[in-house]
Amino acid sequence: MAYLAFRCKPAPVTTRARIASWIAARLRRGEARLAKALAQSRHEQQHQAALLAQVEEIALIGSTETLLATGETTLSAGLCRLFGEAPSADPVPAQWLWDRVPDEERQLVKFVRESVQTDEPFEFQHRIVRRDGGIRTVLHRGRIELGPDGTPLRLHATLQDITSRCEAERALDDLAHADRTTGLPNRHALLNRLGEATFAAQRDGRPLGLLVIGVDQFGLTHESLGHAASDQLLRGVTQRLLHVAPGAGTFAYIGGGEFALLMELADAGEAAAQGMARTLIDGVAGPIQAGGTEIFVTAAIGVALWPADAGGPDELVDNACASARQARQLGTHRVCFYTPEANARAALRLANEAGLRHAIDRDELYLCYQPQVDLATGRMIGLEALLRWQDGTRGNISPAEFIPLAESTGLIIPIGEWVLRTACRDIVRWQAEGLQPLRITMNLSMMQLQLPDIVERIQAVLEETGVDPQRLGIEVTESMLIEQVDHVAKTLSRLKALGIEISLDDFGTGYSNLGYLNKLPIDVLKIDRSFVHDVTAPTQDVSITRALINMAHGLGMKVMAEGVENEGQLALLVASHCNQIQGYFFSRPVRADAIAQMLREDKRLPEHLLVRQSRQRTLLVVDDEDNIIASLRRLLRRDGYHIITANSGAQGLQRLAEHEVDVILSDQRMPGMTGVEFLRRAKELYPHTVRMTLSGYTELQSITDAINEGAVYKFLTKPWDDERLREHVNEAFRHKEMADENRQLGARLQSANDELATVNQRLQRLMERQREQIRRDEQRLLSAHELLEGIPTPVIGFDVEGVVAYLNADAHELFPLSDSPLGRNAAEALSPELAHVWRSGDGVHVRVQLGERHYQAVCRPIGDHPHRRGKLMVLTPHGPGPWVH
Ligand code: C2E
Ligand code: CA
Ligand code: CA
Repeated sequence: MAYLAFRCKPAPVTTRARIASWIAARLRRGEARLAKALAQSRHEQQHQAALLAQVEEIALIGSTETLLATGETTLSAGLCRLFGEAPSADPVPAQWLWDRVPDEERQLVKFVRESVQTDEPFEFQHRIVRRDGGIRTVLHRGRIELGPDGTPLRLHATLQDITSRCEAERALDDLAHADRTTGLPNRHALLNRLGEATFAAQRDGRPLGLLVIGVDQFGLTHESLGHAASDQLLRGVTQRLLHVAPGAGTFAYIGGGEFALLMELADAGEAAAQGMARTLIDGVAGPIQAGGTEIFVTAAIGVALWPADAGGPDELVDNACASARQARQLGTHRVCFYTPEANARAALRLANEAGLRHAIDRDELYLCYQPQVDLATGRMIGLEALLRWQDGTRGNISPAEFIPLAESTGLIIPIGEWVLRTACRDIVRWQAEGLQPLRITMNLSMMQLQLPDIVERIQAVLEETGVDPQRLGIEVTESMLIEQVDHVAKTLSRLKALGIEISLDDFGTGYSNLGYLNKLPIDVLKIDRSFVHDVTAPTQDVSITRALINMAHGLGMKVMAEGVENEGQLALLVASHCNQIQGYFFSRPVRADAIAQMLREDKRLPEHLLVRQSRQRTLLVVDDEDNIIASLRRLLRRDGYHIITANSGAQGLQRLAEHEVDVILSDQRMPGMTGVEFLRRAKELYPHTVRMTLSGYTELQSITDAINEGAVYKFLTKPWDDERLREHVNEAFRHKEMADENRQLGARLQSANDELATVNQRLQRLMERQREQIRRDEQRLLSAHELLEGIPTPVIGFDVEGVVAYLNADAHELFPLSDSPLGRNAAEALSPELAHVWRSGDGVHVRVQLGERHYQAVCRPIGDHPHRRGKLMVLTPHGPGPWVH
C-alpha cells in the first residue's frame, strides 16, 4: 500500500471550491495513474511469479525463505513439486525440510544450514525423500540476508533436483571404471553400486547378497602363459557368467581372477544365494582356449550377505572375498558363506600370500639340502633340495604351510624356478671346489609339471648355469601322475631323455595304484617313511615294505627309503635290499655350507651297518684218498670256507643231508660209486648245489654226459694248480650266490605280488564300506533334515563348538532377518531367554516366553560320547505357567 501526503496554503471559498475541484480532479487523475501503475506492477509480479514457477519447473528447482528469528519458512511451488507435495502458501517450520531428508543425511543438512552465518553463499548436495517415497538427489544452494546492522535476517535457499545428472555422471564414472578386459564394472564401480543398493535395500528391508567368484586357473595361467592368455581366460569366463545368469544382478570384475555378482535377495536370502552360486559354478566349469592351450576352468565362490555380514560396501566386498579365498582353499567347486572365523583365517592367508610374493625379492627364501645315501657303499650320492622361508616378522614358516599357498596362487612357478637356479648355482660352486659331484633332486609341483614348456624352462636354467643334466633329479608325487598319466608320462620321458633322474616321491601314501607305474619312466621309487619300520615292527608291516621293494626292483627301479631315523630301521632296509636312504639318521636337511663340509670329510655310513648277514660258504670235498682231502683242506681253508669231507659217494650223500652245502668238489674214481654217479644223485636231491669233479684221468664220455645233463658244473683235473683251483672254487660260490639271489628275488616278487593283491583287495573292500557308509549317512542326513524342517516347532542346531549351525523354518522366525544367528556363537547370538536354556545344560526343560508365545525348551546332545556332533535345542509350544527350572 502506498501513501501520498500534500501540504497547501489557505485560499478564498470560491477559489477554495475551485481549488478543491482541481485537487479532486488531480487526485482522481493521480489515483487513476496510481491504480494503473499498481495494476501494471501486479501484472508484472504475476508475470514474474509465473516466470519463476516456469523456471523452477524447467530447472527442477524449488526455493525457500526462512525467517531466522522464528524459523518460519515459506516454500515455492517448485519446492513443493520437488517434494511431491501440494503447493501451499502457508509458512511451515524449518523442521519441515529436515523431516524430508533421509536419516543418515539429516544431521549434515541441519548442520550446514545452521552453521551459515555470513552472507557468503553456500552450496552442497544431499538426498531427499519425496512424499511417494522416491529418493532424489538435490543441489542445495543458499545465502543469508543480513539486516542494516549486520544481523542475519533471512535464509534464502534453492534446491535443485540433480538426480538424473548424478545418474548420468555415475554412468560415465562406471564407464570410466569399467574393467578393460572384461567390459564389466570394476571394483570402484561395484562399490558405487553397492552404496546405492544398500541404501535402497535398507529402505525396502530386503537383504543383498554379494557373491565373489574365484577362477582357480587364473594364477597359473597368468604366471605361466602371460597377460594375453589370462585376459582370454577372463573374457571366456565373463561370457559364461553373463550367459548362465542373465539378469541375476550386477556382475563386476574386481581383479586377481575374481568376479563379483551383486544380487537383491528375497527373504530367504541364503538359499537363493546358494542356488545362484551353484548355478554359476556349474555354468563356468569347462574348457576355455587361452594362450594356445585348452584350460579347464573351475571356480569356487564366497558369499557375504548385507546387512548380516557387513556394515558398508567395502566391508561387504572384503568379507565376500575372504569367503571366496576360503572356498578355494577347501577345493574346487566349493561355496563358502562368510563367517568371522573364516575372515580371520583368510586374513592370515592373505598376509602369508603377500609375504610370499615378496619373499624372493627380499631374500627370505633359502634352500636346505638333505643327503641321500647309497646302501651299497655308504656314501652320499645325492641331495634333496628343500625350500625354507624365513619371514621378516614371523620367522621360519613350515613348507607344509607355504608350499600349498604357493601352489594355489601360482607363485610356485617363479619360486620353483628360483629353487632350480639356486640349486644349480650350488652344484657349480661345489664342482669348482673340487668336491665329489652329487645329484641334486628338486620337488616339482603339479602346477610346474603342467606347464606346457616345463622341459624347456628346466633346460634353459641348466644351460644358463652350465650344469650337466645328469646332476639333476626331479621328484614328483603319485597324485600328480594319476590325473593326466599320458601327458605327464610324455613330459617325464622328455626330462629323462635329457639325463635327468626321475623319482616318485611319497610312494604308498596316495592312491598306490600300481597300474600306472610301468607306464612311467621312473628311475627311483621313494617309499614314504610310514613304510620304514624298526626291527620290532609286526612282521606283516615289514613284509609289505619288502614287497614294495621287490616289486620296484622287478620293474627295474631303484628304491630309496625316506625318513630313516635309527639303526634298527636301517638294518631292516639293508636286509630288504633297499638301495638308498635319506633321513635324520644320516643327516637332517642342512645349509649348503654344511653339505660342503660333509663332502670334504667324506662322511659316510659305517661299513658294519651295510653288510648283509649271510651264511658261511660251505664246501663238501669227496675223495677216497685221505692225503688229497688233507691237502685240499689246507689249500682252501684260507678262503674262509666251511669245509666238510667224505671218503665215498655214499658218505657224501650222508653229509649233504646233514649240512646245507653250496659247492661240491668230488673225485671221479672212487670205490662203490663214481664221482659222476654221486653228483647225479646230488643234483636230484639238492638241485641248487654247484657240483664239480676233480679227476686224475678222463673218461670223456661219462663226464660229457654229466655236463650235458647239468649234473656237473665244471670238470677240473688232477694234479691241480693251486691258484687256479682256488679261483674255480671261488667262482663256483659266486655262481651259487647269484643263482640264490635270483631265486629269492623271484620268490619275493611272487609273494610281494600276492601280498599286494590282498592289500589292494582289502583297500577296495574298505573303500566300498566307506562309500556305503557315506551313502547311508547322506540319506540319514537328508531325512533328518526334512524331518526337522517339517516339525511345527522351532529347532536350533549347534555344532560341537557351540556355533549356531542350523535353524528349521519355525526357528528362523524367532530371529529378526537382519540378525541371523547362523555361524555365530550361542552365547552372543541367542536372546537372553534362549541363552538361559543353552546354559541350563542338556536334558533340562526350561520354560521360556518369546514375545507372546510360551515354550518349553530343552537342549539335547547329538551323537554319543565321545563322538559328539553338537546339540539341538527344541522349543515346544506351551501354555503360560510358572517359571520352573
Ligand atoms: P618331501 O618331499 O616328502 O620332503 C621330505 C620331508 O621329510 C622334508 O620335510 C624333510 O625335512 C622331512 N624329513 C627328512 N628326513 C626325515 C626324518 O628322518 N624324519 C622325519 N620325521 N622327517 C624327515 P620338509 O622340509 O618340511 O618339506 C615338506 C614338504 O614340502 C616336502 O615333502 C615337499 O613336498 C615340500 N617341499 C619342500 N621343498 C619344496 C620345493 O622346493 N618345491 C616343492 N614343490 N615342494 C617342496
Ligand atoms: Ca621330496
Ligand atoms: Ca617325500
